[in-house]
Amino acid sequence: MDSRRFIIIFRWTVAAAALAGIVLVYSRWLHVNQTTVALTLLLLILTLAANWGFRYALVTSLAATVCYNFFFLPPIGRITIADSQNWLALFVFLVTAAVGSRLSQKARDQASRARSRQREVELSFQLGRELLQLDDVGNLQTALPVLIARVTHASGVVLYLLDGDRVFQHGSTVISAEVPHLRQVALSLREPDLEATGEVRIPIMAGARPRGLLTMTGVRVSSESLQTIGGLVSISLDRAQALADLAKGEATKESERLRTLIIDSITHELRTPLTSIKGAASALRANRNMPADMRDDLIDVVDEESDRLNLLVERATEMGKLDARQVHMTFRAVNVHDLLEQARHDCASSYAHHPITIVDGNVPDVWADAELVQKVVCNLIENAAKYSPEQTPITVSARVQGSAVSIAVADRGYGIDPSEQSFIFDRFYRARNPHEHISGSGMGLAISRAIVEAHDGTIEVTSQPGSGSVFTFTLPLATAAHEATLVEM
Ligand code: ADP
Repeated sequence: MDSRRFIIIFRWTVAAAALAGIVLVYSRWLHVNQTTVALTLLLLILTLAANWGFRYALVTSLAATVCYNFFFLPPIGRITIADSQNWLALFVFLVTAAVGSRLSQKARDQASRARSRQREVELSFQLGRELLQLDDVGNLQTALPVLIARVTHASGVVLYLLDGDRVFQHGSTVISAEVPHLRQVALSLREPDLEATGEVRIPIMAGARPRGLLTMTGVRVSSESLQTIGGLVSISLDRAQALADLAKGEATKESERLRTLIIDSITHELRTPLTSIKGAASALRANRNMPADMRDDLIDVVDEESDRLNLLVERATEMGKLDARQVHMTFRAVNVHDLLEQARHDCASSYAHHPITIVDGNVPDVWADAELVQKVVCNLIENAAKYSPEQTPITVSARVQGSAVSIAVADRGYGIDPSEQSFIFDRFYRARNPHEHISGSGMGLAISRAIVEAHDGTIEVTSQPGSGSVFTFTLPLATAAHEATLVEM
């Protein structure tokens, strides 16, 4: 038996039992006057009318009239149809049944309308909130149909945008999504429209101008809610556009600022070696009979300063390429011992006055672009030598740390003031005292950080002024999954 039939049978049984109960109680045990009986029956009819509707109250009214007449109106035990009291009781019972059921039906309708209105308000609120929380505004159009289907429980959603004739859809869609058709509807529709097929179509407007069309199947919401949904979609598209414009503007401004900064810095840094080269060249030209040792000194100056110029230009170019993601990286499993030895060899000239030790403890291979990582190690060794008194030792070590290998370059040099430690990885930042005389570009650590981050690693420093610094960076361990996919950037 289905539950609906069960409920109907249950209700009829309860109504009959209640009527029988009242009659039994008043006729057998509680002997009360006729008015009390009539009022009790009236109460039963009103209760049935209010809770279960007119049908139950009507039938019970008829049965109650018969019972009232048979059991309580003299002559008791006989039905006197012609009795006017009979008709009056029947009339009162019927009117009570009709009025009671009507009132309760009205109340039920109002409650259900209020509930569905509340559901719709909640729906609009939820949709609005989710649209505002959507971080990935770049993919908003793709995300919109998914989000709308989730919130409205629509079985299919199609979003069509006139701009670029783009269609985004989600769900089991039986909506006709041919572009010419959608375009035609989007251009002509001004109000939400419910098709005979159950398809809902909402125009998406930008002010008074049509912007697109949202089509849904399997939703049951009022036309006000449809309008709200259309409005919310339009607002979120506006927001995405505004954010994209803003980001573009910010990016242009930032790149402009960086360009100026690079030019300023390079101009400033180039000036010192250029002045020295120019000075040396002029001195050589002016004094052709200069003693040989003096001439050699000046030629050394030209040589060193040209190298410095070269390095500056090289670093600026490298930084620019890293910024523009133009550096081609070839990842493979790299032996850490070989990598550190190669780096030591590459920058041998920079640490001539420092003993250097490598402690690699046979760590497993890392997944890296060997050439670029050697640059990072070289850079850190150069800095360690540059910012330490001569003959102080430099130690390069490697150890496994979770799923990565951490490589550290430690020196016993001047150290870095704690207040400056967080800035030294910024481009062009050079810590102030006590080594202002030491030349540099302020780009080495910025380049190193960019390279390490391209390896999904991190780089940091711990340092104590006067005692030395330890620069540590991490690289991922090479895994079988890595080997399977050769990643190139
Ligand atoms: P550069 O050395 O060319 O100035 P870097 O980007 O390599 O640029 O370094 C930025 C700053 O960080 C340096 O100017 C220096 O003040 C500080 N620094 C880097 N390495 C060390 C180190 N090992 N010891 C002390 N200070 C360091």
